[in-house]
Amino acid sequence: MASTLIGKQAVVIGAGMAGLTAAGALADCFDQVVVLERDTLPSEATYRAGTPQARHVHALLLSGQRALSELFPGIEQDLARAGAVPLRAGLDVRIERPGYDPFPQRDLGWFSYAVSRPTIERAVRERVEGRANTTLRQRCRVQEVLASPNGEAVTGVRYENGNGASETIAADFVVDASGRGALTLALLQSIGRPMPEETTIGIDLGYATCVFAIPDDASNDWKGIMTFGQAPQNSRGGLMLPLEGNRWMATIGGRHGDVPPGDAEGYLNYARALRTPTIYNAISHAKRLDGVARYGFRESVRRHFERLDSFPRGLLPIGDAICRFNPVYGQGMSVAALEACLLKRLLERVGGDSNPIAGLAPTFFAEVQALIETPWSVATLDFVFPDTRGQRPADFEITLKFGIALTRLAAEDPAVHKLTAEVQNLLKPRSAYRDPVLVQRVLAIMAEA
Ligand SMILES: Cc1cc2nc3c(=O)[nH]c(=O)nc-3n(C[C@H](O)[C@H](O)[C@H](O)COP(=O)(O)OP(=O)(O)OC[C@H]3O[C@@H](n4cnc5c(N)ncnc54)[C@H](O)[C@@H]3O)c2cc1C
Repeated sequence: MASTLIGKQAVVIGAGMAGLTAAGALADCFDQVVVLERDTLPSEATYRAGTPQARHVHALLLSGQRALSELFPGIEQDLARAGAVPLRAGLDVRIERPGYDPFPQRDLGWFSYAVSRPTIERAVRERVEGRANTTLRQRCRVQEVLASPNGEAVTGVRYENGNGASETIAADFVVDASGRGALTLALLQSIGRPMPEETTIGIDLGYATCVFAIPDDASNDWKGIMTFGQAPQNSRGGLMLPLEGNRWMATIGGRHGDVPPGDAEGYLNYARALRTPTIYNAISHAKRLDGVARYGFRESVRRHFERLDSFPRGLLPIGDAICRFNPVYGQGMSVAALEACLLKRLLERVGGDSNPIAGLAPTFFAEVQALIETPWSVATLDFVFPDTRGQRPADFEITLKFGIALTRLAAEDPAVHKLTAEVQNLLKPRSAYRDPVLVQRVLAIMAEA
């Protein structure tokens, strides 16, 4: 659909995955799009301070890959050219979960790319920079979102440039893709508006990651490994995926104090104590290419902007600023890209309205719920660990039993395996499990237990 211009200038705060994909969505509908990023943005695909999580495995779900392609047609070829490793779903990653070591490996009919987070980000950044009306300004730290005196509408942002000088930039529309969303909350507070309610799930996750050269004698049976502990006693798990440049990235981690140490020997010892030896056996003789990177993730957070009665016109938090998911499930980048696609569709829809920006944020907040529901419901599985903090869903025990029986069915039946993989990849909503025939089959297995 041809897009209509709905404003002069849009400003995006943050050049992470949410900011870059949002910029891609905005470019057709504003004269100018300016992305402000506090970091120096490397020309190479290297790590930067503002996204410390990039040192850890970043799985790109198929839904995210497709969303990136919708926003930036041809980007999959860019990733392939950058050395991304195609993984056949169901086949190339050996999944080890209690009772299934491994889970049956079968080709589910699609592939997705394994690639480092810096390389994904650089590919998307190059696409954004390629848009004639989009400018990326690095070393610009936004300090404040500016609003009209009555707080009804945002008017721009104030930021500190690379020389330490304070500047302002006017905007009809400001997207807060700063990750933490602190600027949005600060604005709401300064204009005397209520804060959004938050749902949190406290998981105290600790990650440690190393990158290795793939040895010549590496297994041909798999390209990656995912190992789960025996919940609820053992929260330790690991995910090792290939990266561009014939490397493996191995992230291992646990919860509530049982987290990996930051030295190389401690890292290997922790890997050796995983429930299965596959990751340890693979990396113990592989050449380690850098030090141990660690990350602590306290809680998943969902901010309920949709429950607010009013919201400043022309402001939109997006990505992690709305909802931060337990990274174990590999959802954040894909949800950010899906949100950007939703924004693009909304912009196209409101193009003909007399005041198109006015209803954008409330409509977005309402419609994004359907998108967030499935990944968030996956995050609630964290309540399997007794130390998890938050509101345990009332039907949690039955959900857990249903999940165990569904996993057994998926192991036996390729069609159910495919369905579960589609839900995990956010291609289908979790409500797909409510199909009456499927429910009957799962209940029959539950009755046997
Ligand atoms: C350990 C870990 C592992 C993860 N693994 C996965 C995974 O496997 N798969 C997956 O899909 N997702 C994963 N994620 C989640 C994923 O990284 C994010 O959800 C996703 O990148 C979207 O983040 P974002 O762009 O909203 O925020 P961020 O990635 O935090 O980006 C925010 C950007 O805003 C900039 N910024 C912040 N404040 C300012 C300011 N005041 N002015 C200007 N710029 C500012 C930052 O420098 C940064 O560039 C993981 C997260 C963590 C923590």
